[in-house]
Amino acid sequence: MGGEVARLDGQAWWTQMLMAPGRPLQQVWRALLPQPAAGQVRIRVTACGVCRTDLHIVDGELPWPGHPVVPGHEIIGRIAALGKGVTRLAVGQRVGVPWLGWTCGRCEHCLAGRENLCPNAQFTGWQRAGGYAEQVLADARYVFAVPDGYDDAQAAPLLCAGLIGWRAYAMAGPAARRIGLYGFGAAAHLIAQVAVHQGREVHAFTRPGDDAAQSLARELGAAWAGDSGQLPAQPLDAALLFAPVGALVPTALRAVRPGGSVVCAGIHMSDIPSFPYAWLRGERRIVSVSNLTRQDGDTFMHIAAELPLRVHTHCYPLSQANRALDDLRAGRFAGAAVLLANDSAAGGAGHA
Ligand SMILES: [Zn+2]
Ligand SMILES: [Zn+2]
Repeated sequence: MGGEVARLDGQAWWTQMLMAPGRPLQQVWRALLPQPAAGQVRIRVTACGVCRTDLHIVDGELPWPGHPVVPGHEIIGRIAALGKGVTRLAVGQRVGVPWLGWTCGRCEHCLAGRENLCPNAQFTGWQRAGGYAEQVLADARYVFAVPDGYDDAQAAPLLCAGLIGWRAYAMAGPAARRIGLYGFGAAAHLIAQVAVHQGREVHAFTRPGDDAAQSLARELGAAWAGDSGQLPAQPLDAALLFAPVGALVPTALRAVRPGGSVVCAGIHMSDIPSFPYAWLRGERRIVSVSNLTRQDGDTFMHIAAELPLRVHTHCYPLSQANRALDDLRAGRFAGAAVLLANDSAAGGAGHA
């Protein structure tokens, strides 16, 4: 692709860019390295997870930000340059960049410790350039240290599948012992392990006939795995919805006990069909999860360091980003898709 020529000047790098919704990503070369502004860092990307939110952006299911998008918000890389005033991080350090890229710090939500709801927030790989690239700039305050014990490809999915999965799981509350996971992809396969480790009983509900996801769920300690249309033998205390399928909301509601909750973890979902009020009655709750706070990140990274989690990755070179998105859309792999900016840099390519 002309890469060798461009590399001769030592500065050139490239991104996978979305010019308009519904189009394939396009390889775009950049002549100069971006210089971090005050408070920012420049990161040489080694791995970036492929999240379902990226698909929603590419497919035009989320508002278009008004400029071309470099997707990717599960970024792992090494700090290559520090902007003025950044003292918390060092050049060469391995870090992760999540979906929450910037918040205003002044609105009622930020001041109340709910920066995930900040109306002025900027998100990585949407309003801000993301990690489908060899280089990325990030606000140093929103960058996480990444636990040792995970190679770059394995660490990438922790940044969203892990963090958002954790927030959804925490929303179910400590009293939820029997937990249903609807949609057993990147997030669910991580959170299932946390739940099992904490002594919860995990039930994995997948697309009908998705044997690969069901056997992965059993392998990771799920007490039961089966098709999403099935009802559990005993009612669930909580159901976490990771699949972007609105029809699963009433399905999950029927599976939870009185007082139980259905937690919708996705940023986008197809419409929820109407259902009899009796399915909600009994103080059942339907709640959504939006984004993450830095506190969620710190808590989850701590858990990930302690466990450790087994991360099932399905790796692609960065140049194959379109194929990775297509495979995710079609459900062609189990676990988490990860793009490797440089095949030799990330190590552990392939299934973990
Ligand atoms: Zn995500
Ligand atoms: Zn705010």
